[in-house]
Order: sequence, then structure tokens, then C-alpha cells
Amino acid sequence: MVKSVSCGKCGSGEVLQGVRPIGGAHEEQLKVQVFEKPNATLFKGAVSVPLLAHVCGACGFTELYAQEPERLLEARRRAKHE
Ligand SMILES: [Zn+2]
Repeated sequence: MVKSVSCGKCGSGEVLQGVRPIGGAHEEQLKVQVFEKPNATLFKGAVSVPLLAHVCGACGFTELYAQEPERLLEARRRAKHE
């Protein structure tokens, strides 16, 4: 997580942190996903973590952050050793 609370675009200090991005018909929280075994037909070892957004209250600039990104990194490393 970025510690700074000032906007990367306009420099405003009014940045909302930890905003849940939602999508789809059921307004599900957005996630990112990595497969540990992308070439498997079943049981690909999906690792997914939710995204949280930082939204600038002045200009609307939005950044997305994966929660627990180290879990994705570990899955990707395991995939490369397949
Ligand atoms: Zn801004």
C-alpha cells in the first residue's frame, strides 16, 4: 500500500483510501487472479485477491491496489517452476 495520501495527478490531499471497486451485474468486488498451474485443465490453482482503490476527491484520479500482493507473487513464482 502506498502511504502517501496526496493525489499523484493534481497533488490534492483529499484522497479517499480503501474504496471498494465493484463491477458486474451483482456489483461484486473486483479481484485480480493468478494461476499456479495455468496449463492444467482442472485445478489450475487460482489465487485471487481483492482490489482496493485510492480515489482523489478533487480530480477523480483512481489507483487500484491488490490486497496481499505477495500471495500473487508466490503463485506466479510457483507457476514458473512448473
Ligand atoms: Zn487529484
